Amino acid sequence: MSDANTPETHEFQAEVRQLLDLMIHSLYSSREIFLRELISNAADAADRLRFEALQDAALFEDDPDPRITLAVDKQARTVTITDNGVGMSRTDVIDHLGTIARSGTKRFLDALTGDQKQDAQLIGQFGVGFYSAFIVADEVSVHTRRAGEAADTGVVWRSDGKGTFTLEDKPRAARGTDITLHLAEDQDEFLEPQRLRSIVHRYSEHIALPIEMADEQGEMQTLNQASALWMRPKSEISDEDYQQFYQQLSFDMEAPLEWLHNQVEGNQAYTSLLFIPAQRPFDLFEPESGQGLRLYVRRVFIMEDREHRLLPRYLRFVRGLVDSDDLPLNVSRELLQHNRLIDRIRAASVKRVLEALERMARDDAERYSKFWNAFGTVLKEGPVEDPSNAEKVAGLLRFHSTHDEQTASVSLADYIERMPSGQEAIYYLTGESLAAVRNSPHLEVFRKRGVEVLLLAEPVDEWLVTHLSTFQEKPLRAVTKGKLELDGIGNDDTTQADAPEPSESVSALLKRIGDSLGEQVSEVRPSARLTDSPACIVVGEHDFGMNMQRMLQAAGHDLPAQSPVLEINPEHPIIQRLADDATAPIDEWAALLFEQSVLMDGGRLDDPAGFVRRMNQLLA
Ligand code: ADP
Ligand code: MG
Repeated sequence: MSDANTPETHEFQAEVRQLLDLMIHSLYSSREIFLRELISNAADAADRLRFEALQDAALFEDDPDPRITLAVDKQARTVTITDNGVGMSRTDVIDHLGTIARSGTKRFLDALTGDQKQDAQLIGQFGVGFYSAFIVADEVSVHTRRAGEAADTGVVWRSDGKGTFTLEDKPRAARGTDITLHLAEDQDEFLEPQRLRSIVHRYSEHIALPIEMADEQGEMQTLNQASALWMRPKSEISDEDYQQFYQQLSFDMEAPLEWLHNQVEGNQAYTSLLFIPAQRPFDLFEPESGQGLRLYVRRVFIMEDREHRLLPRYLRFVRGLVDSDDLPLNVSRELLQHNRLIDRIRAASVKRVLEALERMARDDAERYSKFWNAFGTVLKEGPVEDPSNAEKVAGLLRFHSTHDEQTASVSLADYIERMPSGQEAIYYLTGESLAAVRNSPHLEVFRKRGVEVLLLAEPVDEWLVTHLSTFQEKPLRAVTKGKLELDGIGNDDTTQADAPEPSESVSALLKRIGDSLGEQVSEVRPSARLTDSPACIVVGEHDFGMNMQRMLQAAGHDLPAQSPVLEINPEHPIIQRLADDATAPIDEWAALLFEQSVLMDGGRLDDPAGFVRRMNQLLA
């Protein structure tokens, strides 16, 4: 080594160091995945080169066939993965292999479960694959040169994974990257070509470029299918092929619930291959979440559709790809925003996914409930985001209801089918938790009459019901809003829908309560809703529900003050006693009735200590 080229030592960034430590010490049980990760990086490098070559064809000229080569040196106990992809410059190497923590690194560390199998699965999902080399290697070196740069810009990165790496200049005749793993003790199994072949077959069969290795006689052999699976005739693709392809694409070890493969011919030909996974990815609810579909143009990988142009956000659980023959190869994000062909592909894909879900819901309830548990919350964004498909999406939704409080299994169609004659609306109650809505006093009269109410306890439900005003022409109506019109509906003809005209003494009591509460309520009136509780809170027909008000306030919105109505149950013993007792401390009672109604509604009290004091006073 000449002085001019003394290796330069760099420290790994702190989180990277943590990650390496973990790779070395605790992901041992799934160690074979290192090969999957390095092959997938090599394939990415080929994709990126193809993409750059769209602008600069010269990049490809000397060596136009992307491929990956595996080589074993038993003497030296090394495995080398070589690609002729885009390669890395010196700065790329420093940034990407150690000094800059990528956003995935920290999230990966946070998401670890301690279960080795599961954690190993996370590696690919979080983009920390390169470091998995250290599961089996005690030293890794990377010799690379960026496509389009001079041979003498080649550089070698080397590390034992223990805190630092070195960099050294070393010319590389061709563009691309060699990654050489010096195997740690006990890892000699990876020197066996047969073992490597079987790992490639298992994890990398559908990588769309050839993975080559010399056989025992020194002849080069291609180990995988090396073709774009989605272009093959459907009749030649087995279920296992689809499943393997899905796993390579998603790093999800569980088989997908469903896949949709469409090869659309004609003058605007395209192919789509869409998968509906069985389990949630970690980032389903993060703002930038969802990798989005992969977009190809004539087999060239262009980009991941992170802006959700190919499918709307409420279908962001769908994985897969679209490969178009008719988009320009230099398609940009801007162009994607306004492109008729993309619009067509999107509309057709939405239709296919929704129809597949309809089929699943109809034919295989168990599979559908698995889907629903994983992705139902996301699907509920549908009517908000995509009004043109609102009715279709609404048909796919499942809810808890007073008919089935245990599982979210009630569809709107089931609900309508069960409606007693005379019932015109679909009733629902929203709240902060299932327990809170189940026990709400607002349900009393509905239970008594046997009228079903949907129980909605997810935050997204509030948005859903503001955008989904009808289903099959039946209006959706909150049981907490406005006056109820239950007259003649259901199985209880002794309760009238309108509250009974209260006696004179009760009327006087309501007035006194109203005077005492002042601005806190907009009205105090007799209730047709209650059978067991003395009072409850109701909002106006067109006001936000209390739960929605709380959500908006929590999100920092300034709401105009809306005082709720306090409804009183004239039949309740407490109310009757108060009406007859002119000496009762009415201010205390009014406050207490109001406060308990707020609490039952899931609300917070302005003065909890005052509530407790009043309650104790009256109990004593
Ligand atoms: P990810 O592949 O999700 O980006 P990795 O940890 O597997 O995460 O790789 C880190 C980065 O290192 C890659 O994004 C890429 O920039 C670079 N890299 C790794 N392997 C190669 C390769 N064979 N050719 C070019 N760049 C590579
Ligand atoms: Mg990777």
